[in-house]
Amino acid sequence: MSEEIVLPEVELNIYSPKDPTEVTVVENYICTIENSPNFVRHLTFDVSGTDLEGRVRVGQSIGILPPGVNEKGRPHKLRLYSVSSPTKGENGNSTLISTTVKRTIEEFEGKLYTGICSNYLADLQVGDKVKATGPSGRRFLLPQNANDFNYVLFATGTGIAPFRGMVIELLESGFKGDLVLVFGCPYRTDLIYADFFRKMEQKYDNFQYITCISREDRRADGSKKYVQSSIEDCQDQLSPIFEKENTLIYICGLKGMEAGIYQNLAIQGFDEYLVIKPKLETIAPEDWKWEDMKRNVKPSTRTFEEVY
Ligand code: NAP
Repeated sequence: MSEEIVLPEVELNIYSPKDPTEVTVVENYICTIENSPNFVRHLTFDVSGTDLEGRVRVGQSIGILPPGVNEKGRPHKLRLYSVSSPTKGENGNSTLISTTVKRTIEEFEGKLYTGICSNYLADLQVGDKVKATGPSGRRFLLPQNANDFNYVLFATGTGIAPFRGMVIELLESGFKGDLVLVFGCPYRTDLIYADFFRKMEQKYDNFQYITCISREDRRADGSKKYVQSSIEDCQDQLSPIFEKENTLIYICGLKGMEAGIYQNLAIQGFDEYLVIKPKLETIAPEDWKWEDMKRNVKPSTRTFEEVY
């Protein structure tokens, strides 16, 4: 690396669960293609008059305290949501912070369960007040000297949230490097902010948007197309960027996605994005087992991950 990666100083937990602030919903709309059965919504909060204004960086999260109590009669716990607005705020307005929320609906032993906080947020109307905390997160950030790097961003599902903000932040600030977003979701209707990213791709020559639709697209060998498949399948696009000295990788979304990305990077010989312990150095990356990888492969300083 010829550039040093310096992360910006951030403010943490200005508001805690014991002392939250109140923010107001100003926008709440579906941000998948309209007919998706997966309801993902873009929510914007007005934080004016609170100390969150101008102090939440792209890549950080805010906490939401849903009303009500759990089955033990205790108040519901805080849930964290990555912000999807850039540091300067939604539409460049520092009083507006947005996030991306998916309704969670699950069936267990014949009963239907709906996610407490995601459904609370999804149902909110413009003007409703919400208890919020934060900001949180000090590592999943763009470097201070962000325009000196190239970026490959990997997202699955709502893991796209921080990358919406990062793409806006970089491209709208005169960024001239390479920026690639690789996004994975089950069906084509689950693409999140797709129209926005396609427009940005048309507008900016240095931005590429790659989609991996796991249950519709198939790879040459018939297997599912996951975000990590692109490291091999889109070599012409991605390898020249991985090879550059100042490229950083960001990974956000479903826990487990990072393992596939690490393995495929190692197969292609891009070891500089990883810290590989000696135990695995003697085994070909193609033969790495998930259990071994958990303990023996970590992200290097050039790789940022937030998965859960
Ligand atoms: P989703 O729409 O279900 O999409 C997930 C995609 O990832 C699917 O295409 C899925 O394929 C694929 N996938 C499954 N296993 C994979 C693997 N090992 N490697 C790569 N891809 C894989 O996603 P979602 O329901 O929105 O879930 C997003 C997740 O991101 C949630 O767990 C959420 O908590 C997390 N998240 C984290 C952050 C953060 O850390 N800041 C922010 C937002 C969201 P198949 O299902 O077809 O196998």
